[in-house]
Amino acid sequence: MERLKLIDSLKKIIEPEYVLDSDMDLTLYGYDASLEKGRPDVVVVPNSTEEVSRVVALAYKEKIPIIGRGSGTNLSGGTIPVKGGIVIHFSRMNRVLEVDLANRTVTVEPGVITLDLQNMLLKKGFLYAPDPASQKVSTLGGNFGENSGGPHCLKYGVTTNHVLGAEVVLYDGTIIWTGGKSQDNPGYDITGLMVGSEGTLGIATKMILKLIPTPEKIKTMLAIYNTIQDASNTVSAIISEGIVPATLEMMDKLVMKAVEDSVHAGYPLDAAAVLIIELDGMEDGMDRQAEKIMEICKRHQVREVRLAESETQRNELWAGRKGAFGAVARLRPSYLVCDGTVPRTKLPEVLSKVIEIGEKYDLPIGNVFHAGDGNLHPLILFDERDKEMLLKVHLAASEILKICVEAGGTISGEHGIGTEKLKEMSFIFSESDFEFMRSIKSAFDPYGIWNPGKVIPPAPV
Ligand SMILES: Cc1cc2nc3c(=O)[nH]c(=O)nc-3n(C[C@H](O)[C@H](O)[C@H](O)COP(=O)(O)OP(=O)(O)OC[C@H]3O[C@@H](n4cnc5c(N)ncnc54)[C@H](O)[C@@H]3O)c2cc1C
Repeated sequence: MERLKLIDSLKKIIEPEYVLDSDMDLTLYGYDASLEKGRPDVVVVPNSTEEVSRVVALAYKEKIPIIGRGSGTNLSGGTIPVKGGIVIHFSRMNRVLEVDLANRTVTVEPGVITLDLQNMLLKKGFLYAPDPASQKVSTLGGNFGENSGGPHCLKYGVTTNHVLGAEVVLYDGTIIWTGGKSQDNPGYDITGLMVGSEGTLGIATKMILKLIPTPEKIKTMLAIYNTIQDASNTVSAIISEGIVPATLEMMDKLVMKAVEDSVHAGYPLDAAAVLIIELDGMEDGMDRQAEKIMEICKRHQVREVRLAESETQRNELWAGRKGAFGAVARLRPSYLVCDGTVPRTKLPEVLSKVIEIGEKYDLPIGNVFHAGDGNLHPLILFDERDKEMLLKVHLAASEILKICVEAGGTISGEHGIGTEKLKEMSFIFSESDFEFMRSIKSAFDPYGIWNPGKVIPPAPV
């Protein structure tokens, strides 16, 4: 279908002011938080499932790509329109539809901002646990698409563990429900398949999420180390002693410096690494657990363990951690976040290799990550305008993922594959695996219109 005709048809489905087609709009929607770039043919901002369904039915009839978009904060090129098409932006579908405290569920539309929901629930004494560091901006639809994690996912699990059901628009515009409020739904686990599928199998237009009561008590500690190795060894020691803190986050010197320059969270600038260790749960027994953790830290040459004495101090520590990616922008104009996962015990070895890779390519690399999950986020700092340097960045990132895989880990902990890691998929999957994935994709998407060019590498010719 010719572009102008498509825009006209979309304006019959959605109020014309929510069909965006200016040069500026199309340029803006060609970006996300990755280094990739593309350009859609048109952007629509629907207000209901019915509108989404009619847009998708039109796209199916005309074989036009559809790209779902929340806030575009994904770090893997997941919302880049690599083949043009229609971007469906969910910013108007941002209603909390039902809070059902008796069943401990909340039903939301995909455009709800993660932190807005969490703040609303806190006032009622409940938590929606998955807390990506981008939660001030990210949407629940984007979290669903990426199966997002976050600091508290060590104890509570990632997004998929908190989505009970979803209303999904299928390739031809058909609307179905998967899962539901009960904990164990019969039949195929379509919800499980959809979460983390990066908008390549369909689009969620409503989600039923699980609530948990807020913990009675929280204790937050900052453990300060002179070596990254000691900090890493503490992480596996804590878990192997049978303690699962709510969070176990690590930050190295380079990142702490950037954070202190922007957020002033009180991190020690002369230390090699810090761990943010948070315990939550029943008050009873928590002091004993904290003492045990301090003992383990001491065994691993901790320099000091500071306890957040007030809510303000705790918030400062977290503001620093959650603002870390933004803060490194002070050091270089661009950064690429690698997102590899390794068994916790391999952290010291893999972190040393990451440092070697930085030296080999002469690129500064900072580390701030979900250490408890073994989920590394080496941040490679550079200047995107220098094309030669950009090439080195991609080589370094790929090498980092390779060493994660060689250490028994994998190529993504939470940021997805998108377009950015298509090549690295072959580090962990065989061509037969891809063939099987392609057969699932074609059952959900016979014309290949859902977010094309993402997740599964193209079939060999
Ligand atoms: C500073 C910073 C910190 C971050 N920290 C974390 C972190 O701690 N943990 C973490 O996991 N991620 C983190 N991220 C990555 C990112 O924020 C998450 O992936 C987030 O879930 C994306 O949400 P979004 O609304 O921006 O989604 P988008 O980027 O708009 O979309 C993400 C994917 O979901 C798909 N999608 C969007 N809406 C739907 C829908 N309704 N149905 C189906 N698919 C859909 C899109 O097509 C795309 O593939 C961070 C990013 C930044 C920039």
